[in-house]
Amino acid sequence: MKNFAYSRAETVEGAVSLFSQHTNSKFLGGGTNLVDLMRENIEQPDALIDVTRLSPAGIGDAGIAELADGGISIAAAVRNSAVANHHLVRERYPLLSQAILFGASGQIRNMATTGGNLMQRTRCYYFYDQAARCNKRMPGAGCDAIGGFNRMHAILGASDRCIATHPSDMCVALAALDAMVHVEGAGGKRSIAINAFHRLPGDTPHLETSLGPDELITAIHLPPLAFAKNSRYRKVRDRASYAFALVSVAAALQVEDGAIRNVRLALGGVAHKPWRAYTAEKTMAGAKAGRETFQRAAEAELSEARGYGYNDFKIELAKRTIVGALSELAEAGGIR
Ligand code: SF4
Repeated sequence: MKNFAYSRAETVEGAVSLFSQHTNSKFLGGGTNLVDLMRENIEQPDALIDVTRLSPAGIGDAGIAELADGGISIAAAVRNSAVANHHLVRERYPLLSQAILFGASGQIRNMATTGGNLMQRTRCYYFYDQAARCNKRMPGAGCDAIGGFNRMHAILGASDRCIATHPSDMCVALAALDAMVHVEGAGGKRSIAINAFHRLPGDTPHLETSLGPDELITAIHLPPLAFAKNSRYRKVRDRASYAFALVSVAAALQVEDGAIRNVRLALGGVAHKPWRAYTAEKTMAGAKAGRETFQRAAEAELSEARGYGYNDFKIELAKRTIVGALSELAEAGGIR
């Protein structure tokens, strides 16, 4: 098993697969777009192994179970549409249901799995273009997105090696919820906090997750979070469906006596990983709920943001989307 990397992957035809490839120390991820990458010759795995039937919990509602602590377990093979439509997810974590329904198309959601969604790879155009320089595809080659057409690219947490963004909507909601990713490999079982699962690019943009070379995702656990009943996923994109986020916001808010008692905030479309807005959350803790506070939190979170030319507009867009989403939640009232 040495020198092989494993990840969950999914073909557009729907077979959930275990992706293995001789890596020469390169770590690879699969995801819902693995077949696209194979068609473009970006990935050439030595083997694809169908793991659809590995999940004893199955792919539908049966793979979603309530945990003893009041949280929810979602098996890796459960289809995205089953998660979005499950009554416990809709009631307790509406931001997750909304995020999934804002992603892809109905046909893709019916086939895409929870594990595969976690392993999606960036849709940076240069990553898919063999004629372009790309440090993610070929470490050390350079990055044509920097100085190129970078409208979809990152404004937070980027490096001079890579400014790609993570494409998933579901993962942004999971980041806000502090989900745990359960994995299993030759060394046994472990769980990884969602915010440590995906990586920032740094000097190694080809390393996208902390999944070990011999590990397989088995489930995601959502911790109990009563105030997540008052939550939203707001997505800004170029067209109303089947488009990746320019900016998205996953937010949950609890207001008591006009003050912010609890808040969770994560951003999509702005970084190499779903971006948990810890600075904004800290700014809002205990403050009066209202646009002024939300604006101050958005300014604080985006204070280190950097545009690369075509994507400069995202900085203001992210601020406005944060303020809009939180204002909606405040009007909804939170749980008192
Ligand atoms: Fe490659 Fe990242 Fe640069 Fe895109 S932004 S070309 S994925 S290195």
